[in-house]
Amino acid sequence: MTYIVNDNCIKCKLTDCVDVCPVDCFYEGKNMLVIKPDECIDCGVCEPECPVDAITADTELGNEKWLEINKKFSEIWPNISEKKDPPADHEKFKNEKNKYEKYFKENL
Ligand code: SF4
Ligand code: SF4
Repeated sequence: MTYIVNDNCIKCKLTDCVDVCPVDCFYEGKNMLVIKPDECIDCGVCEPECPVDAITADTELGNEKWLEINKKFSEIWPNISEKKDPPADHEKFKNEKNKYEKYFKENL
C-alpha cells in the first residue's frame, strides 16, 4: 500500500504535506504534487495535513488512475522537501471538480 495525490491538489500546492513527510517522497510538477509509491512508507501522516483531501490510500476505490499518475510523474518531476508559498489564487480552485482534465500539465 502507498498513499497517492489526486487532482484536488492541482493549483493548490499548499505543500503542508511536504513538511511532514519523514522520507521526502513528494515530487513537484507545474501545478500539482505526486508521491513516489516506491518511497512512501505508508505512515499516513500527510493525509490529514492536506486541506483539500488530495491525499488518499491507493487501496481506495477508483484510485488506480491516480496511482499510475503518481508512479509515472514521480519518476520525471523533481523532488520537493520543503514547504513553499502557494500560488496567490489557490483559494479560487479549492473546490473545483475535474481539475485534471482542465489544468493538468505534464511538465516534461
Ligand atoms: S497539501 Fe494537499 S493540495 Fe497541498 S500540495 Fe500537499 S497534496 Fe497538494
Ligand atoms: S504516507 Fe508518510 S511516507 Fe507516504 S507520502 Fe505521506 S508522509 Fe510521506
